[in-house]
Amino acid sequence: MKDRYAVMGDPVSHSKSPAIHRAFASQTGEAISYEAIHVPAGHFQEAVEAFRNEGGRGLNVTLPFKEEAFALTHEVTDRGRRAGAVNTLWFDAGGGIHGDNTDGLGLVRDLVANLGCELEDRQLLVVGAGGASRGILGPLLERNPARVVIANRTAGRAEAVARVFADAGPVEGCGLDALDGRRFHLVINATSASIGGKVPALPAGLLEEGAWCYDLMYGDQPTAFMQWGEHNGAAHVADGLGMLVEQASESFRIWRGLRPDTLGVIRMLRTEARESPASNEV
Ligand code: NAP
Repeated sequence: MKDRYAVMGDPVSHSKSPAIHRAFASQTGEAISYEAIHVPAGHFQEAVEAFRNEGGRGLNVTLPFKEEAFALTHEVTDRGRRAGAVNTLWFDAGGGIHGDNTDGLGLVRDLVANLGCELEDRQLLVVGAGGASRGILGPLLERNPARVVIANRTAGRAEAVARVFADAGPVEGCGLDALDGRRFHLVINATSASIGGKVPALPAGLLEEGAWCYDLMYGDQPTAFMQWGEHNGAAHVADGLGMLVEQASESFRIWRGLRPDTLGVIRMLRTEARESPASNEV
């Protein structure tokens, strides 16, 4: 009998998580099953409890349930607590629910290990102050950047997020209109603007020489933000597919105690996306 895992979301049929975890399972020889479960709004808690009571071992959680998942946990990691949102759940023998947010670790691994982007002593800009932004700030600050600026369309949300991370490193929050005249080595788009093919209203002249632009969103074509980066002099642009696979590998490690190889899986998904352009997961 295989140990059962799943991703829950609404919508979820587009999710790449089943393909990623099945690839990890076949690579490591772990006997697991992994499915996508659609959960309508208002039914998340009962869906998690039913899954656990039927013997399920762990879950990934995607939009719009990451905050609800956090609220269900009995124990949560520090990075999950600061994010106020978790994407990974697992259950102990007594039925207790544990949670973690692996998004930020996934991003940092993709940036540093896969892409070779330096973070230490660099000026970083995170655009957006929603759940994804909160999930990535802790792991970014652990890399000792010179400063992390969080800029958001609604300035007050960025300021509030910066306060949550104030003791974790040099971080400040502001509105997009306060970015004029500032320059960064890495700009991360953690807004949902790309979903609608839009780019946040960023000033020109934002990028240092050799700068990176990284979009948490991904697709079969360069995102609108990646195109913005190219037009504004970025030396490197990347989408968030590597982050997606890396956050999944950290979930797999939490559940199974093994960290699978990710590069082959990223390559597999890129090939699939080219051959059948389709979906994006958040
Ligand atoms: P969210 O909580 O809904 O936050 C959305 C953010 O986007 C807010 O800061 C919002 O600003 C801003 N925004 C939306 N439209 C905008 C526009 N036209 N111009 C400027 N700002 C705009 O969303 P989220 O959960 O943080 O997700 C954000 C992105 O991260 C999504 O694209 C998702 O796909 C991606 N993501 C990727 C991964 C991965 O593994 N690759 C993992 C997690 C998330 P206001 O506060 O002013 O409304």
